[in-house]
Amino acid sequence: MKSAVPPLMRQYLGVKKEYPDMLVLFRMGDFYELFFEDAVRAASLLNITLTKRGAAEGEPVPMAGVPVQSLDQYLARLVKIGESAAICEQIGEPDGKGPMRREVTRVVTPGTLADSDLLAAEQSCILLSVCGGIGKSGKGEECGYAWLDLGRGIFKAGVCAKNRAGEVAARLRAAEIVLPESMPPPLSGALKFLPDWRFSSADGERFLTRHFGVRDLRGFGLDKSPAAISAAAALLRYAKDAYKKPLSDIRGVAKENDAEYVGMTAATRRALELTETLSGARSPTLFSVLNKCKTAMGARLLADSLHHPPRARDEILARHDAVDSLLKTGAADDVQESLSAVSDLERVAAAIALFSARPRDLAGLRRTMDALPEAIRRLQPAAAASLKLASLSEKCTPIKSAMTILQTMLAEDPSAAARDGGVIAEGCSEELDSLRRLRRNARDGLDDMAAAARKQSGVESLRVEYNKIHGFYIELPKSRAAEAPAEWRRRQTLKNAERFITPELKRHEEKVLAAEERARALEKILYEKMLEDLQPHVAALRSLSAAIAELDMLTCFAAAAKSLRWRRPEMHDGQMIRITGGRHPVVESQTEHFVGNDLHLDESARLRIITGPNMGGKSTYLRQTALIVVLAHCGSFVPAESAALGDIGRIFTRIGAADDLAGGRSTFMVEMTEAAEILHNADEQSLVLLDEIGRGTSTYDGLSLAWAMAERLLRRNRALTLFATHYFELTALPDEQKCAANSHLSVAEHGDEIVFLHRVEDGAASRSYGLQ
Ligand code: ATP
Repeated sequence: MKSAVPPLMRQYLGVKKEYPDMLVLFRMGDFYELFFEDAVRAASLLNITLTKRGAAEGEPVPMAGVPVQSLDQYLARLVKIGESAAICEQIGEPDGKGPMRREVTRVVTPGTLADSDLLAAEQSCILLSVCGGIGKSGKGEECGYAWLDLGRGIFKAGVCAKNRAGEVAARLRAAEIVLPESMPPPLSGALKFLPDWRFSSADGERFLTRHFGVRDLRGFGLDKSPAAISAAAALLRYAKDAYKKPLSDIRGVAKENDAEYVGMTAATRRALELTETLSGARSPTLFSVLNKCKTAMGARLLADSLHHPPRARDEILARHDAVDSLLKTGAADDVQESLSAVSDLERVAAAIALFSARPRDLAGLRRTMDALPEAIRRLQPAAAASLKLASLSEKCTPIKSAMTILQTMLAEDPSAAARDGGVIAEGCSEELDSLRRLRRNARDGLDDMAAAARKQSGVESLRVEYNKIHGFYIELPKSRAAEAPAEWRRRQTLKNAERFITPELKRHEEKVLAAEERARALEKILYEKMLEDLQPHVAALRSLSAAIAELDMLTCFAAAAKSLRWRRPEMHDGQMIRITGGRHPVVESQTEHFVGNDLHLDESARLRIITGPNMGGKSTYLRQTALIVVLAHCGSFVPAESAALGDIGRIFTRIGAADDLAGGRSTFMVEMTEAAEILHNADEQSLVLLDEIGRGTSTYDGLSLAWAMAERLLRRNRALTLFATHYFELTALPDEQKCAANSHLSVAEHGDEIVFLHRVEDGAASRSYGLQ
């Protein structure tokens, strides 16, 4: 019975039909209201009051609302728990006939916050899409995936084995994952399911070629990967729908090759606590110990790099050279100091591309470009000895044409919002200047008017004044208010005075107010034009911010090397890890006397059995080895007296009791699944770290398992392996296998007490301290 639904509700239901799977926030005056199911959900998610409004089809309509000025705060809470919301605004003016026009102007989802205040400065915002498919060979299942980082303007796509989709999501630290409804790969996080047809590859190809304005996708190397195309198209469509913008600055999609980075499974990244702690607590991580970046984009690049250590030798060595040069010339401190003045250009570039940049973002951009020449000057001594720094210094030059636009159009110290006025520079528009003059000179002529009024009324003590709220007025003391001429109209009554307005004063006021309104409208138009004019420079801005971020990260490496006494690693070909005095950077930061330890793994000893008492330092030793490998590949110096590292393609770990209890798997199950993954995938270029394999089962089974795994790793996988165990029996392995060796964590005994020395020594422990 349609007629029983009031017009406003009909309008709402029309909008809701378009956004069935997210909360619709419907603007009504000073509130965004939610209705029906949405209201009930929002009330419990946001802890807001659930009320009722009118009735639809005889039933009261549940309603909940948030005040307009607190919208961001509520949205932040929603995206944090993986929810999305459609913001439906009132458009235009009320016409008295039926409800106001309303339109969804923005969809807020966890993965589409590139230009938003809802995103913390250190957080990147990567939207990932994954869709299943059968591999070209017909063997095994392959996934297509694509990801978009609108902040950096990066759009990439690729394919991976279905069981490695989780690794891709963990590597990218995706904020949101878009998936087809049926056959979703096993992934967790903020998942968004879309109908399968959104992943059709023929449709997707048409959509992408149209978006990029190309004939086919061959130029991007994607023509043979239909699953990657499907994922890329579904993702770009989703992002366009959310941002409600054409995203025309995304001009291509690059094919991603996983093998460019040192690979790590999702479990390995977690165990190594690269950017997040295992417990989720705010205790230190590798990132937090290392991060001395001065810019937000530098810090984000650093976090991203720790998850993407490059394998290309040229790149790694170029970074080491740069850090070396920054240290030797002492330029690091100077450069860092000038980088402190740099604003978050990456976000500003994204905001310009989305037409959402605010005046202060642009002022920050101008300040940054002003500060660049000084940063570059300070970099020169270091750049002389490093090709990488020399090239970064070239890329860090201000963008002249964008500067010109900002200098001529943007006010010196602009106000927060374009609609407030005061954002366009003097001299940019003649019309605006003359309107502003009129406003500035609003008091001109008031003296003459006052003189005339005094003459007319005979009240010498009257004043003609102006204030923002009441406009212009003639003020008479209360005692003489009766003497006001009849044509003066009363405007306001105060305790001791009466305020009047005259027709002449009214005309003057209208002129001034009209000028003000026109000036504000004109400023808005000019501001939009400035954003339009800046569009062609978005790509250059992104390259500039990428160069600054990299420079910041490299100087951070230098600063960390200096303050933490890290050393330059040597990179070698072949299979080896030789570390002297290696340390765990995070444990060291929490420990008074950290004991550095050596490690030799190479052709002659590919696998080391590590024994020693509980709490002796075995896991620390394992983890620090992986962290040193990760840091060295990222281009950083490493916490060791010296380190020589071969070519490591992947790191696998099975460390600690990261039980997937929430996922319903027992310790033993998790352990076996992860162990099987390692045995299937590790190769000669892998580093494998195993801690206490076989714990979740009987001693005998556990030992046989551990033994079988060690043997297989040695013979089949031939990976570099550290195998920490409390099965003392395993120390016999090196007697049978020539590429195995024993190490142990030493302890000193004082009567009944044992003292942990945390020192790694060759050979097996003298006895098993398991129980102590
Ligand atoms: P378990 O077998 O119980 O897991 P473990 O042998 O793996 O123990 P770790 O967890 O590595 O031991 O280390 C225990 C504690 O010893 C660490 O939290 C740290 O405080 C300290 N420690 C470890 N290694 C060192 C070191 N090299 N120098 C100083 N302290 C260390």
